[in-house]
Amino acid sequence: MVNEAILDCVTWKGALDGIYTSKSAYLWILDLEDVDSQSSSWRWVRKMKIPQKLCFFIWLLCHSAIPTNVLRVQRHCALSNMCGHCNLEPEFVLHCLRDCHKVHAVWDSFGADNFAWFWLENNIVKWIQKGINDIGTRFITIIWWIWRARCDECISLQVITTQMVMHWASMMASDIDKCYGVSAVSVKQVRWVSWVFPISNVTVLNVDESSLGNTGSAGFGGLLRQQHGEWICGFAGHYGISNNIHMELLAIFHGLELAWSRGFREVECRSDCLEALALVQGIMNNFYAYASLIACIKDVTSRDWHVTFVHTLREGNQCADYMAKKGALMDSSLEVFDTSPAGLCSLLIADAMGTSFPRI
Ligand SMILES: [Zn+2]
Repeated sequence: MVNEAILDCVTWKGALDGIYTSKSAYLWILDLEDVDSQSSSWRWVRKMKIPQKLCFFIWLLCHSAIPTNVLRVQRHCALSNMCGHCNLEPEFVLHCLRDCHKVHAVWDSFGADNFAWFWLENNIVKWIQKGINDIGTRFITIIWWIWRARCDECISLQVITTQMVMHWASMMASDIDKCYGVSAVSVKQVRWVSWVFPISNVTVLNVDESSLGNTGSAGFGGLLRQQHGEWICGFAGHYGISNNIHMELLAIFHGLELAWSRGFREVECRSDCLEALALVQGIMNNFYAYASLIACIKDVTSRDWHVTFVHTLREGNQCADYMAKKGALMDSSLEVFDTSPAGLCSLLIADAMGTSFPRI
């Protein structure tokens, strides 16, 4: 999309804002080396709200890099790879932390049987991820103390009982949750979100994007609704390969153009993408990758009408999500729908009834 106010210029292609930083260069190089699938997949380790030593411990576990006897033999640091606890099987990471019958008592007292995957998942990374997702901080502190107990027993011959492991793991989890200001991840509080009814005379434009990954086959879509959630019209389009921020901006642009063309002059544009909302409301950056498109959106909003931008959680934006997914599967670059697609009806009714959806 071209906007005459945005002149051609040289920009840094390693970042969407077109401005070079050493961080963006580093990420760009990582991308070039095609290690993104690995490096980005470890982001969840760095993002955990736990002490760094535990983050590092989790990372080592996921790489089978803690010095179990199997690893020590590989590195010629030990003669036997057998488990020092039971001496029945090689001491792989999962054996050490879960499968050794010496640690069964720890997990039994914790109630691991309540989790169907617990004894069945044999991929160490998936096992840890499921543990963190379903059990939370306590899972991490238990495996930490199981490992510490193992090391104490192997190195200093000090026996740490099941009760002591559970006690220290519990204390540590409690301290972590207090320090980091979060309750244990295992205690998930469900938040309920619904489509928000606007004040009278305001037409609501919900927009969304859909992309397969962040650079996959992409589409966008949205819909206009009246005060009580009544369908007015919708739109969707397919773009090909692009990223989600580009699609979100396209959705905003086409949604606003549609609202204007239908004669609505009090419009509330709702998006679940904070970044896109910041771009269309912020100071113009001519180096930005989609500067022309943003300038076009600003041109549309500066017409003689009243447009407000509102952030919505994605659970309150499900109808637009449906339209965007429809767009990603379409052949045409833009299509306007005067009647609602059949598959959207139940979501429209749910929104009009004020139905809340759980936010996980
Ligand atoms: Zn064992």
